[in-house]
Amino acid sequence: DDLQDIIDYLKEPAKYTRLGGRVPRGVLLVGPPGTGKTLLARATAGEANVPFYSISGPEFVEVLVGVGASRVRDLFETAKKNGPSIIFIDEIDAVGRRRGGGALSGSNEEREQTLNQILVEMDGFDASHTVVVLAASNRADVLDPALLRPGRFDRQVTVDRPDKVGREAILKVHVKGVPLAPDVDLGAIARATPGMVGADLANLVNEAALLAARSDGNSVEQHHFWEALEKIQLGAERPLVLNEQDRKIVAFHEGGHALVALLSPNADPLNRVTIVPRGHALGVTLQLPIDDRYNYSRSYLMTRIAVALGGRVAEEIEFGDVTTGAENDLEMVTNIVRQMVTRWGMAPEVGVLVQADRHDEDLGGWLAPKETSEYLSRHIDQAMQDLTNERLAHTRKLLSDNRNKLEKLAALLLEHESLDAEQIRKELGLADIQPETTDEARLKVPVEVPSGSGL
Ligand code: ZN
Repeated sequence: DDLQDIIDYLKEPAKYTRLGGRVPRGVLLVGPPGTGKTLLARATAGEANVPFYSISGPEFVEVLVGVGASRVRDLFETAKKNGPSIIFIDEIDAVGRRRGGGALSGSNEEREQTLNQILVEMDGFDASHTVVVLAASNRADVLDPALLRPGRFDRQVTVDRPDKVGREAILKVHVKGVPLAPDVDLGAIARATPGMVGADLANLVNEAALLAARSDGNSVEQHHFWEALEKIQLGAERPLVLNEQDRKIVAFHEGGHALVALLSPNADPLNRVTIVPRGHALGVTLQLPIDDRYNYSRSYLMTRIAVALGGRVAEEIEFGDVTTGAENDLEMVTNIVRQMVTRWGMAPEVGVLVQADRHDEDLGGWLAPKETSEYLSRHIDQAMQDLTNERLAHTRKLLSDNRNKLEKLAALLLEHESLDAEQIRKELGLADIQPETTDEARLKVPVEVPSGSGL
């Protein structure tokens, strides 16, 4: 909608300016890499049928000192002469980062000159110039405030990761020209790919097509998509020969995850379990999230923790010993439990005040902890231990009570290596446990729970 305004303006500038209105000169497209910011900018120029001049931030920085600024001058000159037009600056972070933050590299001077020149050019626009500057950035909060001032990039358009409906639409675009078998369900693929952006989905379709071609098929089938997804998320199959004892341990470990997921009413539905080694994983249990979840209930998180602990607990029950195979699971559990206690007010003994800053991947992990009293720190530690121990006990009871099912599932895995949820339910005589409905309106607030659905 925001860009539609820009298109209308470029088509018919007089309509917008006749009442004295000022149309934004600078529009910042903000969103994670791969979400299609460049494509959107191009499409805007295409729709408006105006020339499109583009350059990317890093290109400015690589050139010799002084050249960046003169290229900016040339670019704006050309665009103004051929207006109405669009200038697109990709990866503006490379030149537009907050200034004065300590010299990190020798290219700082060049960056500053280039940035200044952009600001000078944008300030120099007058009513006769119908040039709109679009810029793309991964995050607006690192940009120099001077860029965001009124009259410069004063309009921001968020280009977020697509939701389920968006992913399905994107998949439809990418499968044009790919012969699909009748069993292909793009909706199910969209559901299984939360967090993926357009570029990832294009890659997924391509991998599936390659897998189908390798098996000499005439069309791409649903299982090709699942295999492609596993390959992308977890790495290619590894020609790793495990000895019989290790295979058995992996079978029980994955069987533990799968069984807890099957026996827990509000777990994400189980998709597949495999003990074929892939990437760094020796085996994988894949769950399909019902929906993009933006808001997680405490009971959902408690289930998620139990499913993650299922692998470790199954090893413990069957072998009376544990292995390093649970490392990723335990990391995930720690992450969720820590946030439940310190950020989401889910432990009564700590209370609802936030005790830790947000986990920020872009900044390399946890930010410095808030100043917490020694008294409260002890309570936080205690609450994290209590919560985890309760979940361990719950999972132990669940798997011990269903030990015959666990053993049967492990035996099936050793025999078949990969099983889908339907096969497992049938073999174990488990009625289809309906996942809890997620129809109720969910807050559109992304919550940071590790999104990888492979355990
Ligand atoms: Zn595991």
